[in-house]
Amino acid sequence: MLAWPAKIKKGAAVPTAFLDRDGTINHNRAGTYITRPSQLKIYAAAPAALRLLSAKGYRIVVITNQSGVARGYMTLAGSRAINLKLLRDLRRAGAVVDAIYFCPHGPGEKCACRKPAPGLILEAVKDRPADMARSFMAGDKKCDLLLAKNSGLKGFLVLTGQGKSAAGVTRAYKDLLALARALPDLRGNAA
Ligand SMILES: [Mg+2]
Ligand SMILES: [Zn+2]
Repeated sequence: MLAWPAKIKKGAAVPTAFLDRDGTINHNRAGTYITRPSQLKIYAAAPAALRLLSAKGYRIVVITNQSGVARGYMTLAGSRAINLKLLRDLRRAGAVVDAIYFCPHGPGEKCACRKPAPGLILEAVKDRPADMARSFMAGDKKCDLLLAKNSGLKGFLVLTGQGKSAAGVTRAYKDLLALARALPDLRGNAA
């Protein structure tokens, strides 16, 4: 379980948008992995979605499985470089991600952090207390919805990435921006 930037931000529990990375914030690579920063391409609507979530009062935390590390497709440092590029590209577009928590393990390792196990959410919440009743997990796969369930969070499916293959299991949104628009404004600001 790793996080960037450095952990710990104690204080009041705040509503948190836990977001999957690949296929939710950035394009996934069908049938393969993002193993280099140059392969990371943010969806055109993602920065606006994250800006809107922030404006509505949500802290944004990314929760991602990166088994490409365990599979030897990239190093931990390589994975870090990809995540730092994500943070940088989003920041340039005015979107602030509070932290990225990721699992570098493979499916056979039986770790506590590979989605849909709740380890990454537990870790994130320990570092950054979340108002669970007003928080949610969103992603493009069934395992993101299962993670939500396993963590006691509301779960939302987006139809980007591999979302279409999971459609029908729950209410789905065209993309992250459509979801952000549908969520309540917790600060009472005009959206
Ligand atoms: Mg995904
Ligand atoms: Zn893990």
